[in-house]
Amino acid sequence: MPTLFVVGGGLFGSLAAAWARSKGVEALVFDAGLEGAASPAAAGLFSESWAGRKLRQHHERALPLLERLYGIRHVSLHHDDGRRETLLFVPPAAILEPTPVRERVTAVGDGWLEAGGHRYEGWVYVAAGVWCEQFCPDVSVHSKAGASFAFAGEREGRIRRFASGRQAILFVRDPETTYFSDGTAERVYTPDHDRQTLARAAALGLTGEPVRRCWGRRPYAPGGPVFRKMGRRTWLATGGRKVGTIMGASFARQLVEDELRQ
Ligand SMILES: Cc1cc2nc3c(=O)[nH]c(=O)nc-3n(C[C@H](O)[C@H](O)[C@H](O)COP(=O)(O)OP(=O)(O)OC[C@H]3O[C@@H](n4cnc5c(N)ncnc54)[C@H](O)[C@@H]3O)c2cc1C
Repeated sequence: MPTLFVVGGGLFGSLAAAWARSKGVEALVFDAGLEGAASPAAAGLFSESWAGRKLRQHHERALPLLERLYGIRHVSLHHDDGRRETLLFVPPAAILEPTPVRERVTAVGDGWLEAGGHRYEGWVYVAAGVWCEQFCPDVSVHSKAGASFAFAGEREGRIRRFASGRQAILFVRDPETTYFSDGTAERVYTPDHDRQTLARAAALGLTGEPVRRCWGRRPYAPGGPVFRKMGRRTWLATGGRKVGTIMGASFARQLVEDELRQ
């Protein structure tokens, strides 16, 4: 059986590699560690209502994979008026490939890729986030950037809506810290956006210097997330927007169960 070579060790690439391995397919992930990768910044939260009607079938397809590989957790957040909201959660740290090959993939063709001066032949899955255009110029991808911050200590989960479709969330994503993000998604990201996000964090009691800042570029494709067959043995997927966990998982199933089986 061919090896699956994956370009990009973000949520999309890591989920595909993990699901392939669970089905007995060997998988090797290349990730160049590019600045602006979206996945390390992600909260890892998801819900049926976030997926909306358009992406509901992806949500349903994603759940069994996420449950089987990582176990889906529940995060309880309280609103200012005391109401509680529960979201589903898988920490990105549990998903992201821990030791990808730290090489930049320089070329991709049907059933092969090149990295570090070597050529690898097998199945190829391009999951390079906003960098996908490099390998398939007619997939148009643009980015909307945002930053998340981690503060020392563990706080109780909270959620605050501050504009239509915008909410600030704080919860314990990783042990001993509190994660904060406010859904900022900007084509042109400036230091002012950082200041606004930190002001919203402070308004929820997260004052002082954050211990970590993660800045990431969410991939957007016109018309929604993209899964494309580029050749007999090469596929591409991107456009995870704010729902990368479920889209990455749904596309991992499409790749491994529908495409590689044929
Ligand atoms: C602040 C923030 C919060 C978010 N919160 C959530 C959330 O709660 N829930 C949710 O579902 N989504 C969330 N998202 C969205 C989610 O992060 C993205 O949809 C998802 O991470 C996209 O994953 P990806 O694998 O397509 O891209 P990326 O994570 O960007 O991964 C692409 C990878 O490809 C690598 N790469 C690119 N080109 C090459 C090359 N030539 N060779 C080798 N490697 C290469 C890069 O280094 C990168 O690591 C959030 C995003 C942000 C910014």
